[in-house]
Amino acid sequence: MRDLATEQGFVPIAAAAFIGEHSYSTEATPIAHGRPDALDLVQAQEFGAMIRERLAAPAALRGTPPLQASGAYPYREWIPPTDVSPITDQALCVKCSDCARACPTAAIVVGEVVATAPASCILCTACVKKCPTGARKWDHPRIGRSREWLSTNCRERKNPELYV
Ligand code: SF4
Ligand code: SF4
Repeated sequence: MRDLATEQGFVPIAAAAFIGEHSYSTEATPIAHGRPDALDLVQAQEFGAMIRERLAAPAALRGTPPLQASGAYPYREWIPPTDVSPITDQALCVKCSDCARACPTAAIVVGEVVATAPASCILCTACVKKCPTGARKWDHPRIGRSREWLSTNCRERKNPELYV
């Protein structure tokens, strides 16, 4: 985000990495379950207030060095697999199209059945989260392995990182 904003001519003065529940999180395999929580929101409010304070005195910002933020530089290109996407339990599906509307890549077409183009799926899980009947679900070993790994290895609570 910092790099994109800078490319567009903005001068980022602060950044933060806040934590949200992972889209693969389930009751059995929680991954940052319940985040952001009350403590996170307090920190976000304080972060916002600090930025507002700094913006109130723009002259003091002139000449400040470029914002530093941690990250895995240089970025690696991520190529999503072309054969993985959520499935639909047609017996539970009520053809509401909520999944199709939630999909950011238009990978889902709702007709007689719910059809998904795996090559267009970026594994975001929006359709699974949005489905009101639980018809939309992951049933792929690759996702299962990722879910298990994350749930096992990312159990410890982590705190948001602020860059100012
Ligand atoms: S996981 Fe995301 S990209 Fe894939 S079909 Fe569902 S909403 Fe679309
Ligand atoms: S959101 Fe669920 S119930 Fe609605 S069309 Fe999609 S799979 Fe079917």
